[in-house]
Amino acid sequence: MSVTVSPLLAADVIHARIQALAAEIRRDNPAGDLHFIGVLKGSVFFMTDLLRAMAGTVTMDFIAVSSYAGTKTTGEVRLLKDVDRGLQDRHVIIVEDIVDTGLTLNYLQELLRARGPRSLRTACLLSKPSRRKVNVPVDYIGFEIEDRFVVGYGLDYDERYRHLPYIGVLTS
Ligand code: 5GP
Repeated sequence: MSVTVSPLLAADVIHARIQALAAEIRRDNPAGDLHFIGVLKGSVFFMTDLLRAMAGTVTMDFIAVSSYAGTKTTGEVRLLKDVDRGLQDRHVIIVEDIVDTGLTLNYLQELLRARGPRSLRTACLLSKPSRRKVNVPVDYIGFEIEDRFVVGYGLDYDERYRHLPYIGVLTS
């Protein structure tokens, strides 16, 4: 069985949207230092492009949680790697690749809110609204997509395809 990736969002389309998101995030907090927390590993490409588009002072950290094995969610979220720095009084922005059921983000927001940040917001490159199980707030969304399993630009299938510069749908 051969697997192919059908392009959904081209690299230049992703790039342009990220420039707009960076401007929007800075507009909402014109003066403050912003502390970004990327969710490993899927957000890595989004995180680095977003931060390079940000004006003003920004800092970054990473957190890792368990995610899918294959294409199905387990519904169970586990912390694999915590952030390195405390969040007390910081303006924190969680950076995630995709919000699907919302379980992962819901877990992360509760975990990080308990650390006493001055503000806590979330940026997701992709959202699949039709799949939502928990009503989790997402402040910045790059693209809303249909219920398709996507790969590329950080998103994997069994650790493969993350390096693709575009986002595509896995078809067999
Ligand atoms: P949620 O907890 O919202 O159901 O799932 C979030 C996580 O599931 C994402 O961080 C991502 O790792 C994974 N995920 C959800 N949908 C997709 C998809 O279409 N493709 C890939 N590669 N991962 C997905």
